[in-house]
Amino acid sequence: MKIDLTNLPIIDAHCHRFCPQRENPCFPKIAGSGFEQPLENYKNTLLYGMLIDRLRVFLGLPEGATDDEVIAARNEFYHRDPKGYFGKMTEETKTEIYCAEIGSPLTGKPYQPDEIAFYNSVIPAEKRRNIVRVERLFDSLVEEALPFGEFIAEFHKRIDEQIKEENAIALKTVIAYYGGLEVEIVDDNSAKTAYENYLKDPTNKVVSKRIHDYMVAMGLDACKRNDIPMQIHTGMGECTMINMLTLSPAYLYPLFTDPRYLNKVKIVLLHSGYPYVELTGYLVNQFPHLYTDISSVVPFASIGAAEKFLNLVERAPVNKIQFGSDSGGFPELAWFGPIYFKEELAKALQKLVDEKVVSYNRAMEIAKMVLYDNAKNIYTRL
Ligand SMILES: [Zn+2]
Repeated sequence: MKIDLTNLPIIDAHCHRFCPQRENPCFPKIAGSGFEQPLENYKNTLLYGMLIDRLRVFLGLPEGATDDEVIAARNEFYHRDPKGYFGKMTEETKTEIYCAEIGSPLTGKPYQPDEIAFYNSVIPAEKRRNIVRVERLFDSLVEEALPFGEFIAEFHKRIDEQIKEENAIALKTVIAYYGGLEVEIVDDNSAKTAYENYLKDPTNKVVSKRIHDYMVAMGLDACKRNDIPMQIHTGMGECTMINMLTLSPAYLYPLFTDPRYLNKVKIVLLHSGYPYVELTGYLVNQFPHLYTDISSVVPFASIGAAEKFLNLVERAPVNKIQFGSDSGGFPELAWFGPIYFKEELAKALQKLVDEKVVSYNRAMEIAKMVLYDNAKNIYTRL
């Protein structure tokens, strides 16, 4: 029997909000981030071509419709009836829950009330869940320049409040963007000194990294206290801001083996650590409290999705992997990600069935786990 996952429900366990004000007005830039490039470079990515082809069909345009016609039709529909536009997409993807990391974007102003209202008007409340970012709280709290002891007490108080108010299913850290994944275990005294020096000069990279490393541990303490997982960005990211020398999740070894957290807090190594996918599978295999997701690999690794999934399950137990789109800014990413992943996952599982690695029934069971059940088990507040 041929594997077809089209109609299975799906949980998007890691995504970001979108709204028209936040998307790049130049649609082809949906396919890339990083330093500004000539337009033709975005248009020449496989991902852009794949997206346009799908959108052409989605919008009911003839095969010969040009890219510009597709983009114009998309703009017209989305801006005229955003709820209808995204509702049609959700109907196709069968996404039941969107877990949005609400600290985005990476830097600059967080989503403003009108932007949040837009997002909330497009996705019904019962489909929305939130993930709170550690660094956003740090950035706002540090402006109050409290003495260190008070700062830490206030951090814990406010993060607990945020978790409650937002009904957060997890915390997230983007420490990769605040000095890199080589997170040091910082004792309280060194943290105090780093914090005080940071207040004097936030551009000092050494003290900035030290205090941010310390805050990751504070975030893990909050996860433990609230019994929720921590999502950690690992692998490739926005090259203008990320520490590209420490993308591998193995750099987090001192952190996740710290006796305060080892087997005590669930840690989700986001993005399969791409391109360190096999390594991520190995880590997830070795440590009971480590999990991973396929977000960002899908859709940004374009044709790599099926192969990367197979690389991951070489070692990773299949009950520790969830789907996520890492979509944000543009609604199309939250649609194309799940649609495409279902096709690629079907392809990967079909290969395993054909090679008699697993039975058809087991393949379907794995699909349901990765698309839905695992997220429910890992994020118990879902
Ligand atoms: Zn993300």
